[in-house]
Amino acid sequence: MDSTIYDSIIIGGGPAGMTAALYLLRAGKKPLIIEKEAFGGQIAESPKLENFPSIKSISGLDFSSQLFDQITELGAEFELEEVEGIFKEGDLFKVTSNYGEHLAKTVIIAAGCKHRKLGLPNEEKLTGKGISYCAVCDGAFYNGKDVLLIGDANTALQYAIMLSEKCTKVTVATLFDHFFADPILVEKLLQIKNVEIFHELNAVELLGEGELTGVRFENTKTKEEVIINCDGCFIAIGQVPANEAYANLVDLQKGFIITDETMATKTPGLYAAGDCRVKGMRQVITATNDGAIAAMSAVSYLNK
Ligand SMILES: Cc1cc2nc3c(=O)[nH]c(=O)nc-3n(C[C@H](O)[C@H](O)[C@H](O)COP(=O)(O)OP(=O)(O)OC[C@H]3O[C@@H](n4cnc5c(N)ncnc54)[C@H](O)[C@@H]3O)c2cc1C
Repeated sequence: MDSTIYDSIIIGGGPAGMTAALYLLRAGKKPLIIEKEAFGGQIAESPKLENFPSIKSISGLDFSSQLFDQITELGAEFELEEVEGIFKEGDLFKVTSNYGEHLAKTVIIAAGCKHRKLGLPNEEKLTGKGISYCAVCDGAFYNGKDVLLIGDANTALQYAIMLSEKCTKVTVATLFDHFFADPILVEKLLQIKNVEIFHELNAVELLGEGELTGVRFENTKTKEEVIINCDGCFIAIGQVPANEAYANLVDLQKGFIITDETMATKTPGLYAAGDCRVKGMRQVITATNDGAIAAMSAVSYLNK
């Protein structure tokens, strides 16, 4: 058990969590950021961030690294642990993780979302053996190979465009009859020669024993079977929240945390920021916005 009492424990080192740390540190507070995987969050998986005001274009990884450097220079403290629960003990919060316990006067949950899975039987087994959810992380393993991309929105199209630069062929399979991505991305994808697109395909089986060899689909209209052979398959079908561990202290709506405009949850001193909360738009700009507001709400609470 860590005997330090932090002003705030921030769960998650993505854009929301790191921005919350930035504001807390600049207000002279002592936050601890707990991250379970790698600092940066989802945006670190993006080839390009091109809709953050004043930055024309930057890789997600560079954006995350710069934010990380910014808070490190201010003296941010970090732990690489997975938070398992939050408990209120008198005026303090006890945050438990796979490595121990930490105490704080306030907590900001900035735990983001995780990749949505297809939900097929051997998906877990083949993850890392042909199945991936992150083209930025794993794309280079498939240079000169044929890959399949399942998904129809911005992330899927960004991945397909990026993969087409190094892979021999990229096959894109979508569930519905059109894309849900920005028109500028759709236009770009349609012009790429080594990209083949199939609409209205529902993935029903991942083929291969030790390694993925292809995916069996059913055409949603004709019910015909379609098998697409590939060396690797990238799945980009959205994100789902993972907030059940905090349900003792927050209200959830479809798994997302309910907050007010100050990012406060129903428990005084407990805030939520970024993609993990109920909101209309999940982007870096809105995550950083939430992080700043949550931090300043925590500062007001601490100063009372
Ligand atoms: C491929 C991709 C491309 C994208 N492109 C864009 C784009 O171009 N522009 C844009 O604005 N947005 C983009 N987004 C969306 C953007 O990345 C997210 O909206 C943003 O990262 C949300 O920030 P966050 O801090 O709320 O959550 P996340 O980025 O999800 O960060 C949450 C962090 O919390 C950690 N965590 C979760 N649970 C625990 C736990 N129990 N213990 C400890 N740590 C935990 C996670 O490991 C993660 O690092 C993209 C997303 C993806 C996946």
